[in-house]
Amino acid sequence: SVIQEKGSLSIHTENIFPIIKKFLYSDHEIFLRELVSNAVDASQKIKKLASYGEFDGELGELKVQVKLDKDAKTITVSDNGVGMTADEIKKYINQIAFSGATEFVEKYKDKGENGNIIGNFGLGFYSAYMVAKNVEIITKSFREGSEAVRWVCDGSTEFELSGTEKQSRGTDIILHIAEDSEEFLDEFRLKGILEKYGKFLPISIEFEEKIINNTEPIWTKNPSDLTDEDYLAFYKELHPFSEDPLFWIHLNVDYPFNLTGVLYFPKLKNDFQGQKEKIQLYSRQVFITDEVKDIVPDFLQLLHGVIDSPDIPLNVSRSYLQADGNVKKINGYITRKVGDKLAEIFKNDRPGFEAKFDDIGLFIKYGIISDEKFYDKAKDFCLLKNVDGKYFTFEEYKEVVKENQTDKNGNQVWLYTTDEKKQDSFIISSQKRGYDVLNLGSMIDSHFINTLEQKLEKVNVKRVDAETLDKLIEKDIQLESILSTEETDALKQLFEGVASDKSAQIQVEAMPVDELPVVITFPEFMRRMMDMQASSGQ
Ligand code: ADP
Ligand code: MG
Repeated sequence: SVIQEKGSLSIHTENIFPIIKKFLYSDHEIFLRELVSNAVDASQKIKKLASYGEFDGELGELKVQVKLDKDAKTITVSDNGVGMTADEIKKYINQIAFSGATEFVEKYKDKGENGNIIGNFGLGFYSAYMVAKNVEIITKSFREGSEAVRWVCDGSTEFELSGTEKQSRGTDIILHIAEDSEEFLDEFRLKGILEKYGKFLPISIEFEEKIINNTEPIWTKNPSDLTDEDYLAFYKELHPFSEDPLFWIHLNVDYPFNLTGVLYFPKLKNDFQGQKEKIQLYSRQVFITDEVKDIVPDFLQLLHGVIDSPDIPLNVSRSYLQADGNVKKINGYITRKVGDKLAEIFKNDRPGFEAKFDDIGLFIKYGIISDEKFYDKAKDFCLLKNVDGKYFTFEEYKEVVKENQTDKNGNQVWLYTTDEKKQDSFIISSQKRGYDVLNLGSMIDSHFINTLEQKLEKVNVKRVDAETLDKLIEKDIQLESILSTEETDALKQLFEGVASDKSAQIQVEAMPVDELPVVITFPEFMRRMMDMQASSGQ
């Protein structure tokens, strides 16, 4: 073709602005997170400029204030940070999607700017229009001799900029709340939003004369400066009504991605479905979400705590998050760290590990079932508990049953009970024959047993009543029933006539070592199918 041209695309603000206003975030309450984040950034910048020698005035007490005026129908976010000159307003505010935060980080890169400035897209400010029909900025730059300026825009593409009166350094953002957003003119609602997103922001946030945040949460500190009491106190801060956690992991990595955080192992109750969404995701101390589905593997969502990473893309859609390379790496890193921590406790304090196993076993088994990589680590510390309350690793247990618990193909038969009371006579019969019986009765165990059989070579796992014991574990010497064939048949018919459970099979074989001549068995395969259906169907 003869047509060949290069150029730049142009945008009609009057068309794009309504889209930004409406679709920037699905959740309108985010406007407060964005404005407070900007105020925090402005405060951090003045602190940094002072440390870089570019500001030598009084820093004063840096603080962000949020005020509600119900009569005037305004919400005001004020800070005593860097402020803006008229030129800076033109550059940073009037140019939609120009990020002053990114510019700042770039500019001071070689001064060791460590990236704890929050903003990055240059759109946050405009989220104010999701709830406001009119926004005013009253600001005065820290630069000597600068004049205070006022910027107003009613959400059209026209703005007004003029000189104004303001004595002190910093910025007031005044939102005139729109009729359809008056729900935000409520102190409880505002306090709730501030606490949700700002609880751990690094600059004090004041609302109704009270500071709502802890500016130095423990995950930002060096683990070697922290005591157990610090970790426990922080746990209480996150989960005021929970029992103390069993132990915790302090995450701290800066390559190939940046991530800090503290994950706690809670005392798990058996209904672990209800315990999810207890990990909170932060980015530079700003709360983002407690839905960490894509970032934390499913089984680790049983943990509680905080993850903070500026490398998780936050303002993008869910499907993008799933495909993001960093998110995958973070997922793998957390799994590895948790595996390492458990291995370490197991190695250094086996009795302590055993004492906690009733609480953490569920979680370890969940990981073993659902995550290959975790299995590879956990196979060395996951414990099996027998009916005498003794614990064994898989390898240890292979040794325990080596001699006498095999089937005719030479495979080991691991016997287990799901209910010590109901299967009591089977357990006694097993023990009389010198067999060991494991206790595998929790709801996750039917899946766990499947995984064991898939992973461990030459091991079959059978419930004590899956068959008569002498068929489960075949010996050269077979015991002889003490009943005659006629007696056996008569008893079998009698019991079959009254058995109500369809999966049960009646066997009669009065063995000299057993007390009971009639055995009701529940074939392993059928029973396990039913268990799995029951546990996955809920
Ligand atoms: P981002 O924070 O991603 O840079 P925003 O749209 O939230 O984008 O803000 C744009 C820019 O406006 C900021 O980078 C900053 O330069 C300026 N700005 C916004 N709020 C303030 C404030 N309270 N004080 C000083 N500058 C501000
Ligand atoms: Mg911002």
